[in-house]
Amino acid sequence: MTVQSGVRIAVAGAGALGSAAALRLARAGFQVTVFDPAAPGDNASGVAAGMLAPVSEALFDPASRDHLALMRRARDLWPAFAEGLGIEIYRAGVRIEGSETWRGEVGRKLEDLGLPADETIPEDWRIEARPALAALRTAAQAEGVRFEAVAVEGFAPGALRLADGRTEAFDILVLATGPGARDGQLAPETAALAPIKGQLLRTSAGEGDMVVRGEGVYLAPGETLAIGATMEAGRDDLEPDASATQTLRAAAWALRPDLDLNAASVEVGVRVTTTDGLPLVGWSKAPGVMLAVGARRNGWLLAPLVADMVAAYLNGDHPGPDAAAMDARRFEKLGD
Ligand SMILES: Cc1cc2nc3c(=O)[nH]c(=O)nc-3n(C[C@H](O)[C@H](O)[C@H](O)COP(=O)(O)OP(=O)(O)OC[C@H]3O[C@@H](n4cnc5c(N)ncnc54)[C@H](O)[C@@H]3O)c2cc1C
Repeated sequence: MTVQSGVRIAVAGAGALGSAAALRLARAGFQVTVFDPAAPGDNASGVAAGMLAPVSEALFDPASRDHLALMRRARDLWPAFAEGLGIEIYRAGVRIEGSETWRGEVGRKLEDLGLPADETIPEDWRIEARPALAALRTAAQAEGVRFEAVAVEGFAPGALRLADGRTEAFDILVLATGPGARDGQLAPETAALAPIKGQLLRTSAGEGDMVVRGEGVYLAPGETLAIGATMEAGRDDLEPDASATQTLRAAAWALRPDLDLNAASVEVGVRVTTTDGLPLVGWSKAPGVMLAVGARRNGWLLAPLVADMVAAYLNGDHPGPDAAAMDARRFEKLGD
């Protein structure tokens, strides 16, 4: 399906994926409106630690192990993407800390990935997630994108149904709803998505510029020290849960016994994933619906790549080397 510039595009969801796609599409000449009932940043994208970390993810998330090359391609799009948006990329890298046994295991995994068994990973970067989301929104608005605080409930080409009862004339719906809209009403492919609740502690800014990775925890410096994160598969509630965060606290204290976590705040977000760990990007079986959803632990890392792919699909260009791996319809059963 090829779309001409000037058509009206609705984006459902103002997280990292929806906001990046909206900006990219507006720059390509499309008329774009983003719908999201939540306050800006009140989503997983606002909670995230902001790591752009292909190697750490391949090391510590089994679902991402096979996607190192793809994640590196996504990271490499960041400098051009961030330029002009006022998003700073912190490139101090990651330091591995922990018991000798555990560091030995990490070293072996690094070698399995074809990397030296060093205790620093210089190629993993970081951004500040919440300011980055605000910067994307500001840039999108400057390109003429409108933001409306209402949920999308239904879509057929020419008729977008909103939760406040309005029906508006839009030609294309870009579905970037994160863990929302998983009932298949807007796109049947969302049935392949499963939630993973994530809790993260934030406390006053920590020492140094490097992210520290320990056993079961990371310490990400910045405006605050982000200590994360839990992986609670199958859960999509936003309730802080003391038993899960206690495990995080214990892992953080194992690295930094003096860390004062009494005043730490708990932030909760819900990631959404497919079984292969990659998002659904591309045309849905539902007419006029383009999917950009399911980025698991890597929504920030993948945002520029997903935005480029969405723009390519809508322009009728080739969506690039990662299109097959992220194909939106890859989980359909044969014969569907
Ligand atoms: C604790 C934690 C730490 C993380 N750390 C990192 C990290 O360091 N690096 C990284 O790359 N990723 C990280 N992630 C993952 C990352 O946050 C997600 O992959 C990313 O935010 C997904 O972005 P998104 O735009 O798809 O979804 P979201 O940010 O979830 O946004 C979806 C939006 O859609 C809206 N919505 C839902 N339904 C509708 C509807 N019907 N109509 C309109 N709008 C709707 C919601 O209100 C929401 O605002 C982390 C996640 C968590 C929870």
